[in-house]
Amino acid sequence: MNVDPLLPGDPGFDAAVAVLPATGSAPKAVPAAIFAASDEADVDAAVGYARALGRRLTVRSGGHSLSGTHLRGGAVALDLRRLTTLAVDRERGIARLGPGLTSAAAAAGLAAAGCSFPVGHSPLVGIGGFLLAGGNGWQIGTSGPGAGNVRPAPGCAADRVLAARVVTGDGSTRRVDARSDPDLWWALRGAGSAFPGVVTEFTVRVDTHSPVVGRRTWSVPAAAAAELGEALDALEPLPAGVELTVMARPAVRGAMITVVATTFAETERALVAVRSGSASLDRLAGEVVDSGPYASAAALLVAIPDHAANAQWSHHVWGTGSWRAVLDAVPMTQDRPSERSTVLIARAPSGAPEQPAALYRAPGTLGVSAYAHWDPESGTAGAAIGWTHQVLAGVGGSAPRRYIGEADITGDPARIRECFPPGAVERLIRLRSRVDPDRVVASVLDLLD
Ligand SMILES: Cc1cc2nc3c(=O)[nH]c(=O)nc-3n(C[C@H](O)[C@H](O)[C@H](O)COP(=O)(O)OP(=O)(O)OC[C@H]3O[C@@H](n4cnc5c(N)ncnc54)[C@H](O)[C@@H]3O)c2cc1C
Repeated sequence: MNVDPLLPGDPGFDAAVAVLPATGSAPKAVPAAIFAASDEADVDAAVGYARALGRRLTVRSGGHSLSGTHLRGGAVALDLRRLTTLAVDRERGIARLGPGLTSAAAAAGLAAAGCSFPVGHSPLVGIGGFLLAGGNGWQIGTSGPGAGNVRPAPGCAADRVLAARVVTGDGSTRRVDARSDPDLWWALRGAGSAFPGVVTEFTVRVDTHSPVVGRRTWSVPAAAAAELGEALDALEPLPAGVELTVMARPAVRGAMITVVATTFAETERALVAVRSGSASLDRLAGEVVDSGPYASAAALLVAIPDHAANAQWSHHVWGTGSWRAVLDAVPMTQDRPSERSTVLIARAPSGAPEQPAALYRAPGTLGVSAYAHWDPESGTAGAAIGWTHQVLAGVGGSAPRRYIGEADITGDPARIRECFPPGAVERLIRLRSRVDPDRVVASVLDLLD
């Protein structure tokens, strides 16, 4: 064993627990021990330690699970933040990424090598949890021939995974790819916190260019939501390389909707060409702001605020209709928990046809997430979390589908099934019995017991 576990009472134990969650909202819990792994051998040791102790092993890469799946009272906590391998083979268009890399660190390392990858929208989201959940990152959901030489990324980030090194709960170290184990390969791309092993490294396909990025932002009064929805529908199909993000800020008074078009292009000239197609939005907006160009997606991520300091919760539903239909379904005249709380609507990833065997497929046209922010000292957590459910209640119809990376699965374990296609939970349970028969690796499937 290269690393000794930290135990309750050891110097530094409380501090090591405190930094496991990246947001202030994670439930408080005291693990039985913490392993800060530096390599695969440490991960192997942690799995063996948890098994010998008869405890579950929770896994933390970037700590952005809002449901706090990386921390459980009495479990052994495995912290992977030091697993930050970043090795690029530009000739072959592949990279090896450690799960402990943040989105910002992965984007920066890849940009330095002249490459890019659809990392998460928020700078500190961990590559581990992000890729296992499916990964709705930058440069997804686009299709078509591309602007200039830029080829858009097909589908979600997990579609770019070619292989992974995994220590499964039974203590075996495996290389998982399309040939080695069809069930683990399927689960690797979408099981999220139901994955029955610890990923120590991903091999992914990268784009061998690093686009420049420009943004245009329109601020529209919510009273014009229907008109805005129609204008957004009329912009579809978007030019390749352009991504729309719509942030609704419901309120009894002064509700606003912000539309952000982020454009990934080969040259600054191409950025300008794309902006000229959005006059219909200019007419609706009180304010139009251009920002950038950013030299790369990494430079954009540096400009995006991180959410670590405050309490935050999210809930997610896939919308199945047009922009207009989804905007109609979000109640705009209801006060939200705080100024920063928003409902974020973005295109669902298109899904890559050459990767049919992945668990993750966005079953909708638009992803709709409610993000609640509140002061952790205010005692308003319940109301804030309740707001995320209320505001999405009308989205997704009578049998809503959700995203394992963002849905609030703690309040109602039935939502775990809503995160996966029919039959997937049963297949995951069978897979776990095979590769983790003692159920060492903590899983959201435990909530279904
Ligand atoms: C501010 C914010 C922004 C977000 N933006 C996006 C976004 O743009 N796109 C998107 O798709 N999602 C987004 N998410 C959701 C996020 O991708 C998921 O919550 C993801 O699981 C976080 O990964 P993590 O490694 O940071 O979290 P962690 O809490 O460390 O991991 C979550 C769970 O995933 C599993 N896991 C993580 N790493 C491993 C590993 N190496 N091996 C085995 N299991 C592992 C564990 O069960 C773990 O408990 C966002 C979340 C937040 C809080």
